[in-house]
Amino acid sequence: MNRGTLLIHNGHETDPATGALGVTVYQTSTFYRKKITEMPEFDYSRGGNPTRKALEETIAVLEGGARGFAFGSGMAAISSVLGLFSSGDHLVAAEDIYGGSRYILDTFYKRWGLESTAVDAADPGALQRAIRPNTRALYLETPSNPLLKITDLKACLDMARQAGILSIVDNTFMTPYLQRPIELGADIVVHSATKFLGGHSDVISGLAVTRTGELGERLYQVQNSFGAVPGPWDAWLVMRGIKTLKVRMDAAQKTAGLLAEQLRAHRNVESVYYPALRGHPGWAIHEAQAAGPGAMLSFKTKTTEQALRFFERVKLAAAAPSLGGVETIASYPVKMSHINMPESERERLGISGALIRIAVGLEDAEDLMADFDQALA
Ligand SMILES: *Cc1c(COP(=O)(O)O)cnc(C)c1O
Repeated sequence: MNRGTLLIHNGHETDPATGALGVTVYQTSTFYRKKITEMPEFDYSRGGNPTRKALEETIAVLEGGARGFAFGSGMAAISSVLGLFSSGDHLVAAEDIYGGSRYILDTFYKRWGLESTAVDAADPGALQRAIRPNTRALYLETPSNPLLKITDLKACLDMARQAGILSIVDNTFMTPYLQRPIELGADIVVHSATKFLGGHSDVISGLAVTRTGELGERLYQVQNSFGAVPGPWDAWLVMRGIKTLKVRMDAAQKTAGLLAEQLRAHRNVESVYYPALRGHPGWAIHEAQAAGPGAMLSFKTKTTEQALRFFERVKLAAAAPSLGGVETIASYPVKMSHINMPESERERLGISGALIRIAVGLEDAEDLMADFDQALA
């Protein structure tokens, strides 16, 4: 089946108990035990719930992994995956991963003895050189946030395999509709399902998929013990979002391409970051590993004042954190996703006060383009 069809036909078209079209919300914390000495499939909803199970199996099918897991947020998924490691272990992570992921690595996990080195993942050689005898995993995210830098997944995942370490990829920006890291060799994929998968800015949720059943069993222990699980309504909302992912992503991506071209030609725009834009250094690699450039882009105005004025004037883009909703969202990394990063570090990475990140939504391209034009005038 093609990827679009799989979003609809993945084994959860109907509820197994009733035949209802679509899986039902099982709003229960616990399950009646018919025979007291036998552990039923569902016992207590922290350990498993039929609605959550349907979402977990769906994401496992979509990513091509053995086991899927749902969490109460993307950060809950990422924190739980990091719960697989021990004090004394070391991770090599891309330097421009999601700000929250960087933050927990640099604070909590560091305090508990899990060390990490941040490396420019556009350079596989630099990742390789950062591997130590106690390195247990490589942590990647591509395209990166907020500058849409591209990591060569195949090269990096092969390297991790050869080094005998695990690999983890945050696939939030692409979704399995556009990119499947497990097919390229990843061991674990994580998602903020709050974004494109949920798709309507109405739910906070996270997902993880493991390549093997053995790794899945270990992650299940973390999920069931830490208990950072979503409620059944949230799991259901994410499943409903996944059903329309293809049409949403296709439309938003098309508009993103048009908007990126328009921004590049604008006199008050210094630079535009979008994988499919001519001259993007990672485009050839991205095109080989993903089915499209996606709906995220960022740009820098000529001055910080112009960026601030854009936020004052823009009407169709909501000034907000997050991405992947039906409405276009304009975010300001220095005051949102990367607010916890020291300014010197932000400057080194090119995250300045002139940088605006756009998550393109489903408005008509013509209206968005006219609105951006007046906001930048
Ligand atoms: C939003 C986001 C996260 C965190 O997810 P939450 O659902 O907000 O906890 C992680 N990674 C990426 C790439 C994100 O965009």
